[in-house]
This record gives sequence, C-alpha cells and structure tokens, in this order.
Amino acid sequence: MTRAFVVGHPIAHSRSPLIHGHWLRQYGIDGTYERVDVAPEAFPAFFAALRQKGFAGGNVTIPHKEAAFRLVESLTPRAEKIGAVNTLFFDGSERLCGDNTDAPGFIAHLDQSLGLDWTERGAGTALVLGAGGAARAIVVGLLERGLSRIRVANRTPARAEALVELDPARVEAVTWLDLPAAMARTGLLVNTTSLGMVGQPPLDIDLVDLPEEAAVADIVYAPLETPLLAAARARDLAAVDGLGMLLHQAVPGFARWFRLTPSVTPELRARIVADLAA
Ligand code: NAP
Repeated sequence: MTRAFVVGHPIAHSRSPLIHGHWLRQYGIDGTYERVDVAPEAFPAFFAALRQKGFAGGNVTIPHKEAAFRLVESLTPRAEKIGAVNTLFFDGSERLCGDNTDAPGFIAHLDQSLGLDWTERGAGTALVLGAGGAARAIVVGLLERGLSRIRVANRTPARAEALVELDPARVEAVTWLDLPAAMARTGLLVNTTSLGMVGQPPLDIDLVDLPEEAAVADIVYAPLETPLLAAARARDLAAVDGLGMLLHQAVPGFARWFRLTPSVTPELRARIVADLAA
C-alpha cells in the first residue's frame, strides 16, 4: 500500500484528505492519504523519519512550508524560485525532493476556466493584489505562462518590491493609490490577500477602471463567491474562484506518489463545495 500525508499545525481544517481520498476511491488505488498534526518544534524529527515510516511523500502546509524548503535534499527549480515547498516526493535517486504546486495549480485553473487564450487579455498583463506566500507562487506561475507585464500592489510596499527581483523586466511594484491607472491596463486582476475571506473585511476596491475583456480571479475560497467576484460578475467580467487552485495544486503530488494523473472533475468540485457549505 502506498502512503502519503498532509502535515500542518493545525491541520483539522485541511481539505486535502477529501481531495486525495476522492481520487484514491475513484481510481481504485490501494493507498492512504493521512492528516498529520505536527508542531513546529517537532517538524525536523517528523521530516527525518519520513523514509522510515514508509511514506511515498506528502503535502506540507502552514506553518511548515519554509522549514520544508530548508530541510529537503533537492528542490525543483520552481520551488527554488518561490522559496517554499508544499509537495514532497522521493526522486529517482531516492532523495527527498521539494516542489511548489501552487503556481501550476493556479495556472491550470485559469486555463480550464477561461480557455488557453486568457493570456492574450489586456496584451498579457496582470495586476496582483497582495505580496505574501501565495502571491509569490502566482507571480512565478504568471511569468512561466509568458505574461508580458505583472504589476503587484500590497499594503506593505516593501513586500511588493521584493517580488520585482523575480524578473525586473516584467514585474513592477505599484502603490495602492496607483490602482485605478493600473486596472485600466490589466487583462487579469488577481486577489491574493486574505481580504474577503470568512472573518476578514472585504477587499474594498472599485472595478470600474478594468477593461471589458478583463478577468478577475480570487484565490480566497471560503466563501466561494467573495465580494470581489460578485462585483466582477455585476460588471459582466469573467470571474474565477479560488477553489480550482486548491484542486489543481493537488494533481502533481498525487501523480508522483500514486503514479496516476488524476482529473479535476465537476464531481470532485461538488464534493468540496458541499464540505465548505457544511
Ligand atoms: P500571507 O503570506 O500571510 O499574505 C497575506 C497577504 O494579505 C499579504 O499581502 C498581506 O499584506 C495581505 N493582507 C492581509 N490583511 C490585509 C489587510 N487588512 N489589508 C490589506 N492587505 C492585507 O498569506 P498567503 O499564504 O499568501 O495567503 C493569502 C490568502 O490566499 C489566504 O486567504 C489563503 O487562504 C489564500 N490561499 C488560497 C490558496 C488556494 O489554493 N486557493 C492557496 C494559498 C493561499 P501585508 O504584506 O501588508 O501584510
């Protein structure tokens, strides 16, 4: 039997066991995906015992993504750029390797929701709100997908400026005051702040300056329909919710551990939507 896990602290809220459990059943695979709660001080010992416990790999979530980045024996180029690891697996030489699948997860969801030509909207420009861990992964994903200009605005400007180093020719930091002008030149607006999430204030911005062809994506998925997405739909703009990123980021890990590439289907999505509603 192949064993995989998700480790975090706390971990009770994680939907990853539901996603991987759905796929294990759907494809009739003899495997498990276990939820493991490990406090930060115990993480290095948990990490060191992975081989001994017989795990094929697993997911890493808050607050261990940076610690996993430091502890792995090798990194994918993408994880190296992002500076955080959310997926662990043993490579061909049995080295414990760290990947970050948030970037391809976000892009795969846009491809599925908007069609592959979404990168042509606004001549390949995006405006990213927020500059935390998720924003870094998303900027890396947008760069890999070939966008020509990515503007980043953040409450703390220094964190937006830090993302410019990823590609100074294509990434630019803008201030919150610059947002109306930046929106007028944007094909894709992405909220990566925690604003709009249950228990947080809504993201208070006016979408009036976005061109008609612009799409709006929110990576917050609780609630599924954030005030930002409702405002986008009210303007007849394409709106992409945050759940797809969560589902698609799970695909590469499952494929590595269980040697089968799973599909993100309407049935899987409905299962997680029902769980979020409950
Ligand atoms: P993080 O590293 O803590 O970053 C949080 C971001 O939100 C920062 O840019 C922060 O700005 C901004 N922010 C927080 N409160 C704010 C406020 N009151 N006003 C303005 N900006 C505010 O968190 P993260 O890991 O990037 O996650 C961000 C969100 O994405 C969370 O809601 C998380 O659940 C969601 N997420 C979703 C997925 C998915 O699969 N859909 C994956 C990862 C994350 P400062 O820098 O100024 O503090």
